[in-house]
Amino acid sequence: MAGQRRWTRKELMALLDIRGRQARQELYDRADAVRREHHGDAVHLRGLVEFSNICANDCLYCGIRAGNAKVDRYRLDDEAILALARRMGQHGQTTIVLQSGEAPSPDGDAALGRLVSRIKAETRLAVTLSVGNRPREVYALWRDCGMDRYLLRFETSDPELFARLHPDCTLAERLRCLVDLLDLGVQTGGGFMTGLPGETLSTAADNILLCRDLDLDMIGLGPYLPHPDTPMGLSQNSHDQDPERHFVALAATRLVNPDAHIPATTAFDALFPGTGRNLALSRGANVFMPSATPVSRRADYQLYPGKPCLDESGEACARCVLGRLSALGRQVGQGPGHSRRFRPVAGHPAPSGGGLEGCAKNQTKSL
Ligand code: SAM
Repeated sequence: MAGQRRWTRKELMALLDIRGRQARQELYDRADAVRREHHGDAVHLRGLVEFSNICANDCLYCGIRAGNAKVDRYRLDDEAILALARRMGQHGQTTIVLQSGEAPSPDGDAALGRLVSRIKAETRLAVTLSVGNRPREVYALWRDCGMDRYLLRFETSDPELFARLHPDCTLAERLRCLVDLLDLGVQTGGGFMTGLPGETLSTAADNILLCRDLDLDMIGLGPYLPHPDTPMGLSQNSHDQDPERHFVALAATRLVNPDAHIPATTAFDALFPGTGRNLALSRGANVFMPSATPVSRRADYQLYPGKPCLDESGEACARCVLGRLSALGRQVGQGPGHSRRFRPVAGHPAPSGGGLEGCAKNQTKSL
């Protein structure tokens, strides 16, 4: 954007390294002001349905990794997901986020496309998927079925650290997915974990610059939290002695990426119970993703320990967020909360379009 400051890595490293209560508060205030200037005081609500914990991957940090035999695996059926979707509108939630482990299969990918088109045909919701790395043609199919957005964190911008943490994938492959999604005109979210063991100050700066250079529509970031049933159970967060650094990273991300939607992620509440997501909303975030996962399955989708609201129904989470927003003097966002930088691609102009027609046409072609 014209006139927007172009941060260098050196400047950003200095920003990320600021110490002292007052200096950090000034950074938070700046981030909050940039958020207000670019997004206003409305907070978009995206109902999060963790619809399956089945995963083929073995990411070293993740509680639902394939190798964790303690996890009781599940997949919600389509009717259950549709029933959750139909209730979201009552609570001001205008997007459904469908997230799962990474379990690619041609049949499963085609079925997910059909589910997306049903949600688009039967509700007014925008649809975000977050189900991992896929070939470009699968993303194209889902887009044609009506998928509006896709979330796929790159986790860290350091290729060697990425390789140590992900036996099943390289950073280059993850970035290829993000570039494909952007190129297909899908509103695209990436992001990273903060305080990964082995993260340096320059990696932390590069994480933020990579979001800017990809020109992401959404950026999800949150603290890495060691899960005891993973190989990293004893690997502490590198900000353990100074957990405020997670908020410093969030605020810096907002300064460098003023137009991106940035959620107050659940991991902030896991680290700062009851206050983490509120603080995130005051330090740069403008999106909230209340859990709509059925209570009976919440404990089976624990990426990290301390996940909040394990025994709260979707209704309770929906009410809770309204209380949080009113305490912060913020309003519920109206409308779908699409990207501020939506880039239509020729032949695929309208977010929230999709539906059965485009989906069916492509199902026969590509899968
Ligand atoms: N399978 C999809 C993917 O890989 O993008 C979506 C689900 S994945 C479990 C969602 C996110 O959870 C990851 O991108 C990662 O950043 C986060 N996550 C997993 N384990 C975590 C941990 N121990 N601490 C913090 N975040 C974690």
